[in-house]
Amino acid sequence: MEIIVKVAVNYPLYTTFDYVAKTHHKSIVIGSRVKVSFGNKDVIGIVIDKEKKTGKVESKFRLKNIKEVIDDSPVINDEILNLCQWASNYYQYPLGQIIFSTLPTQIKRGIKKDRINIYNKNDTKYFARKEIMLNHEQEKIYKNIKQKINDYSSILISGITGSGKTELYIKISDEIIKKKGQILIIVPEINLTPQTIDRFQEYIKSTIYSYHSSLTDKEKMTVWKLSSTNQLDIVIGTRSSIFLPFDNLKLIVVDEEHDSSLKQQEKFKYHARDLAIIRAKKLNIPIIIGSATPSFESIYNSIIDKSIKYKLTKRYFKTELPKIVLIDLNKDTPNNGISGYLAKSIKQQLKLKKQVILFIGRRGFSHALTCKNCKWISKCKRCISFMTYHKTQKNLKCHHCGSIEKISPNPGDCQSCDLVPLGYGTQRIEDGIKKLFPTANVSRIDSDSVTNIKKLKQFINQMKNKEIDILIGTQMIAKGHDFPNVSLVGIIDVDSGLYSTDFRGLERTAQLITQVSGRSGRKSTRGHVILQTRNPDHPLLKTLLKGGYEEFSRENLKERQASCLPPYSHISLVKSSSIHKNKSLNLLNNIRKKFSGDDRVFVFGPAESPIGRRGNVYHHQIMFGSKNRSILNNKTRQIREYIEEKKPYNVRWSIDIDPIDFY
Ligand code: ADP
Ligand code: ZN
Repeated sequence: MEIIVKVAVNYPLYTTFDYVAKTHHKSIVIGSRVKVSFGNKDVIGIVIDKEKKTGKVESKFRLKNIKEVIDDSPVINDEILNLCQWASNYYQYPLGQIIFSTLPTQIKRGIKKDRINIYNKNDTKYFARKEIMLNHEQEKIYKNIKQKINDYSSILISGITGSGKTELYIKISDEIIKKKGQILIIVPEINLTPQTIDRFQEYIKSTIYSYHSSLTDKEKMTVWKLSSTNQLDIVIGTRSSIFLPFDNLKLIVVDEEHDSSLKQQEKFKYHARDLAIIRAKKLNIPIIIGSATPSFESIYNSIIDKSIKYKLTKRYFKTELPKIVLIDLNKDTPNNGISGYLAKSIKQQLKLKKQVILFIGRRGFSHALTCKNCKWISKCKRCISFMTYHKTQKNLKCHHCGSIEKISPNPGDCQSCDLVPLGYGTQRIEDGIKKLFPTANVSRIDSDSVTNIKKLKQFINQMKNKEIDILIGTQMIAKGHDFPNVSLVGIIDVDSGLYSTDFRGLERTAQLITQVSGRSGRKSTRGHVILQTRNPDHPLLKTLLKGGYEEFSRENLKERQASCLPPYSHISLVKSSSIHKNKSLNLLNNIRKKFSGDDRVFVFGPAESPIGRRGNVYHHQIMFGSKNRSILNNKTRQIREYIEEKKPYNVRWSIDIDPIDFY
């Protein structure tokens, strides 16, 4: 008797491979590692199925034997294997690569489990235990959710900034821990993990670990192992923690669920929130997703009763939401990006010993450099985009392909170029602010100044200790931070977000404005927000200011419905790229020819990607959509199979299901 096993390997291949296990391997278990010869190499594979064959195995090819059975128990349990299989089918990504991406490095390398060390010190620090006292609004929601914690239910908490969503998660978690269940809390950013852990530990005595990409292999292995043996209660982690093999998971929370970092943008393009919903459903446990600015997908799910929505409408510290003032830059001409009104307001707040945050979406000094006379502009030679001026390094950088160039004194056609910066980046605002407020402590947070999590923590602590008066930064400062002494937030430029080509552009801009504004006036006094724009009559700004994010989303959802865009339909994006422009485009043209003409599926494109040439490579994309998810899933699978069969030469391709970035 022989046993045929199906093995998944860590290669970009959509099939599994059959091998023969000999009689002495008959106890081989699904989910365990084996060593097999693959091509001309020995590789580690995972057994994902097995069947007994009596008599001789019939096959066109002689199946190879398994070389070694590494484990006598699974390294991936049925639940996670099942989740990976679901994801492989849904995202059209190779199962083997998904499975391997969920495993710790030591396991991937084939090291025997009993040779792998983990930290067995418990680094949880117990704080003085405080009792949570929920306010009336929190209490009502808590009581409702408490009724639902024994089975699957999908719960959306839509709570304004500062309303106390975290305390609500903590109180519910406490309930789960009493029943010895485990909890997974997913946050979009690594830097939100330490503060969330601290807040949990103020209240609950439990073993909490964080999980994110800056942990060492050994640390990751520890969390992986402890979660699988039920030796930890709570993991607070970034998106990859959705694949941790908990032994007794009883609740998943996804905080800031609207945040695009929850979707992986490279390779395996999964959305952690969506996988969390699937995992919760399969486990029959509750999932809570929360945000002050819920994604349209999540709002829609509550409209069609796929989830239950609860609202927190008041700030915990009873301060009103900040007052937003629009400044028309056509009238109040900015000096180094700062309008007169904004400068005056900063001055007032500094006098009151309050802190100020200035938000600007772009790092570097300016968008581009241009000559006033000959109109030369700093274009990237390898991309169709501009090169950003970095004043401190005195160079030009392309944020798309990474090219760096020195600035020549006379780059254009004139005798002597008169170079001026165009647009604003964080460095230019920092420069301007330091000139205006020479005695203030000014700090800048962006990916140029903050290269690791330790540095970011330093900035956050300095901010909390009031060692910074004015903090200038990009998206990094928009997320979830709680700085009680900030009374003024200035948003330097919203205009680029108002005229984005992406259909989610307005949704994102409204989220950003609301989130950034939410950093202001959180504790004692009402905050101010100053929004600088050249388009003060833009309907988004008007609705947002008048009715807040909720009214904005109601209005904007109507437009999505009218144009049948998500969440009213589902979309898949097929991308291709090549150094030969026509090759990349031809592939998509052929796909269009072959796969359009089904009236249940709509097609846009093919077209150049928004930045069509990056680093001398041409990028194109085509979008397929349908109201019916399974019809679209089938179509996408056929497209993927077609591309694989064609094996286009010199063309790279990828598929993005539910894309949120059309770059
Ligand atoms: P959100 O995440 O909804 O923006 P937070 O959870 O950060 O709001 O809450 C805002 C502030 O109110 C925080 O400082 C938080 O500690 C405090 N807070 C909220 N609820 C409670 C509570 N029940 N007891 C004590 N403090 C609370
Ligand atoms: Zn470039």
